[in-house]
Amino acid sequence: MDASDAGTDLDHVLFTEAQIHDRLQELGDRIWADYKDKDLLLVGVLKGAVLVMADLMRTLPGSAPMDWMAVSSYGSGTKSSGVVRILKDLDTDISGKHVLIVEDIIDSGLTLNWIRSNLLSRDPASLEICTLLRKPDAAKVAIDCRYVGFDIPNEFVVGYGLDYDERYRNLRDIGTLAPHVYS
Ligand code: 5GP
Ligand code: MG
Ligand code: MG
Repeated sequence: MDASDAGTDLDHVLFTEAQIHDRLQELGDRIWADYKDKDLLLVGVLKGAVLVMADLMRTLPGSAPMDWMAVSSYGSGTKSSGVVRILKDLDTDISGKHVLIVEDIIDSGLTLNWIRSNLLSRDPASLEICTLLRKPDAAKVAIDCRYVGFDIPNEFVVGYGLDYDERYRNLRDIGTLAPHVYS
């Protein structure tokens, strides 16, 4: 299989690029209303959140700096364990800043729960979460997420930054993978 097969590897499309952009605009409007007078810092989690960050930040009508962190989650196969290692830390000091974590997807919530406690220990003025996707049926820890794009069923999805073995991140839509891809 090569990159040219990416289109036929999708089983069905959950959200088109246009639907994603419309929803991010709605979230961006709410975010700007909440943060326009505050020292906002967007914190993205590599690599999945790259496209969410790029499109979300462009919905904001004023300045919104960003920073990035990369983590690896130890676990068996596709299941995360909640044991997290920082591969790349933030470049900036977040103390006193109003931090908004920008995520692609919350599955079990274990990774984000760890990141959240880690960032809280650095004394931000506030800490909230924005995620494009969330799987309520997969939650292992309750995470208070102020901005959610879409709640989705407990299925593995790809596209728009989300990968399967580093592939499909560049698909414009979000969809489920056809079974033949796994076999
Ligand atoms: P959690 O710790 O919430 O279980 O997992 C978080 C990470 O697992 C996400 O940031 C993402 O990288 C990956 N992940 C969880 N569910 C999916 C999914 O449906 N598709 C893809 N491509 N990655 C997922
Ligand atoms: Mg992520
Ligand atoms: Mg991944």
